[in-house]
Amino acid sequence: MSNDLTNCSVNGVSRRSFLRTLGAASAAAAALPATGAFAQQKANPAPSMGGRRGGFGSDMGEMRVLNPDTVIISSNENPLGPATSSLDALIKTASMGGRYHQEEAAKTTAVYNDLFGLKRGYTALGPGSGGLLDLALMSNLGPDKPLVYGDPSYEQGPRAADTMGAPKFPVKLTPTYAHDVKAMLAAHPSPGAYYIVNPNNPTGTMTPRADILWLLKNKPKGSVVIVDEAYFHFSNDESVLDQVAADQDIIVLRTFSKIYGMAGLRAGFAAGRPDLLRKFTTVAPPARSLASISITSAAAARAGMLDKDLIPTRKKINADNRAESLEFLTKKGYTIIPGSQANFFMVDVKRPGHEFQQAMLKENVAIGRTWSAMPTYVRVTVGTKEEMAKFQTAFVKCMDMPTSTTAELYIPEHHIPTELYRG
Ligand code: PLP
Repeated sequence: MSNDLTNCSVNGVSRRSFLRTLGAASAAAAALPATGAFAQQKANPAPSMGGRRGGFGSDMGEMRVLNPDTVIISSNENPLGPATSSLDALIKTASMGGRYHQEEAAKTTAVYNDLFGLKRGYTALGPGSGGLLDLALMSNLGPDKPLVYGDPSYEQGPRAADTMGAPKFPVKLTPTYAHDVKAMLAAHPSPGAYYIVNPNNPTGTMTPRADILWLLKNKPKGSVVIVDEAYFHFSNDESVLDQVAADQDIIVLRTFSKIYGMAGLRAGFAAGRPDLLRKFTTVAPPARSLASISITSAAAARAGMLDKDLIPTRKKINADNRAESLEFLTKKGYTIIPGSQANFFMVDVKRPGHEFQQAMLKENVAIGRTWSAMPTYVRVTVGTKEEMAKFQTAFVKCMDMPTSTTAELYIPEHHIPTELYRG
């Protein structure tokens, strides 16, 4: 994390939620595979992810042991894992791990700034974007500073509002599953923050850049627009990151967990005006030791950004596999949410989604969860071609099973997604 965040003070936030906020997983990010295992992993960039699931720390969250053959397409991870360019950088840097080498993070931030035309002081690098997202949300929310957000969307928004005792104003997505910025503006006269996820999780759909610019222009003074671009690299649209350089009231989040395949290595950025980033320190204690990124992850993230082929190659693989599965489902007559530009999509299973998820697990396919706004839809992450073939077979089999008529719809208000099991 940048030096802007080194002198933070705790403000009504429990130690537990603070640790969750900062992503305690960062400490484990430097784990180095043995040379033999590393060579094997490079030869097979889609390592089996079976046999594990749940939180990052042994005492955190639910641990579910899965059959090692399980196809895991539940948490929007990238089955390709880190690119060779990132792995090479990681292994080169690991031997330097005996020293702090804070310049590694600074070098990675400089590359990011360069890519997006950002000045020094406009970016914070952290172990994943989730902790930074919490800081962005929490530092702008409170009992008199509500959160306005899309429904359905990523639950980290309303969860941060709960932590801060902030009123919540969910706003239904438009018929094309974009954030309804006009309805968001009308939802409250003076919110602390508007949270926009683009592409949206779980629908994968886009909110046009013009709509976000309209909200920025028309929103009340004093509120901030937080745009979560965790999945943006998969999309064809234009980012709003330039609005950060233009000194607007905006914070944009990006992560290395998705297209870069570094979910477990933990790296992400928040970009915003220096005064907005400095506000993070009102909800977090001194951060350098707890929230700093390992030198291995910093180097891997930097190498990924400098790898010119990485994004176009992976974007195409994802788009091809997504299109193939969506075509399969549509041809079979199932109802999907159209327009996903992410590495996941939603499909209507015409029964409680949770029940269907369990049935799929029995077929060794772990799919994603449901959202209270659409409880019969499940979210499916795009895996490899082979994984999607297994998904399709299991999907048809489970859809042909009788629906349990007595099962209640599984509709928690916003239950904790697997990505958030960390604390
Ligand atoms: N934002 C969205 C919309 C997500 O779906 C996720 C994780 O899946 C995150 C943020 C946090 O990702 P990470 O902390 O791995 O960067």
